[in-house]
Amino acid sequence: MRTVAIVNQKGGVGKTTTTCNLGAALARRGQRVLLVDLDAQAHLTFHLGVDNTKTAATSYDLMTGRGTVAEIIVERGPGLSLVPSHIDLAGAEVELVTALAREHILREALAPCGEKYDYCLIDCPPSLGLLTLNALVAAQEILVTLQPHFLALQGMTKLIETARLVRQRLNPALRITGLVFCMYDGRATLSSEVIADVEQFFSRASTAENPLLAEARVLRTRVRRNIKLAEAPGFGQTIFEYAPASHGAEDYEALAGEILDGPPSVKETATATAETTTPSPYPLPSRERGEEATEEKTSSPSSAGGLISKNNSDNTPNPEGAAHGSPVA
Ligand code: ADP
Ligand code: MG
Repeated sequence: MRTVAIVNQKGGVGKTTTTCNLGAALARRGQRVLLVDLDAQAHLTFHLGVDNTKTAATSYDLMTGRGTVAEIIVERGPGLSLVPSHIDLAGAEVELVTALAREHILREALAPCGEKYDYCLIDCPPSLGLLTLNALVAAQEILVTLQPHFLALQGMTKLIETARLVRQRLNPALRITGLVFCMYDGRATLSSEVIADVEQFFSRASTAENPLLAEARVLRTRVRRNIKLAEAPGFGQTIFEYAPASHGAEDYEALAGEILDGPPSVKETATATAETTTPSPYPLPSRERGEEATEEKTSSPSSAGGLISKNNSDNTPNPEGAAHGSPVA
């Protein structure tokens, strides 16, 4: 089972939408998928139309040892299962403070699922607290969702540092493998400027000496801003049930394909010529095709304050210090 934590301590960046619809897309491609709602807000549970007042138990019970995963799993559709959440989970972090090996609870609780599923996607809460730490110990991979906003990299240093400590002390298998842009607006120049900044940040950071980030790449698929993706949760449906012909369905389908088929890394992408690059379903701005990959950016509003500090030549450039210098919208 490939366990992926969908992480960003910021809220509203597409974690839950991605967990739900990427999970559904993987299931449509024949993968056996388990989704874990690890956020007390239970948005993933509602998105999938599961009534957590009627389920036998939830991720709260899993995390506090009151139930086993087999008792809690809800079959949501062909190949798609869910560990639902409940607002009670908000109290679990406090309850678990004194628990022995409290960061390993989720990993141990999910262990019986290893043979039954191909993918486990964990929808994390918008914090780097104990629940997210449990997800990072249970997972082998981190997928970060980002908005192409000029503060996209804000908080990234903290996230990377947290993941580094988890890898060092608790889970040596952990790697950040993907960054996916959600709510992408192809017409906005800012979106491609921000994406170029993030690609540059991760291509600098992902060296062989840095195993946490060695495989980190910005996924080629951008999930476009699409109203159907925002409407689907209100109907308790995945995008494939609610609006199968929408851009949202198309993008999550493409994202699942990219994750399963493994396209070139961001470094290869950045240096590939247009001829050697696999055609993208979406035309990319020239700089993303690598034609201006070495260009020094001096004029864009997103990089004027320097999301990525040009003076930072080590492997972990600090986007936050730089981002703070940026004008705040
Ligand atoms: P998070 O889990 O990171 O807090 P969500 O996935 O809940 O973020 O997304 C925040 C809000 O944005 C939700 O209302 C969601 O429906 C909406 N949303 C997410 N992705 C898109 C998109 N690509 N286009 C339009 N709305 C989106
Ligand atoms: Mg969420």
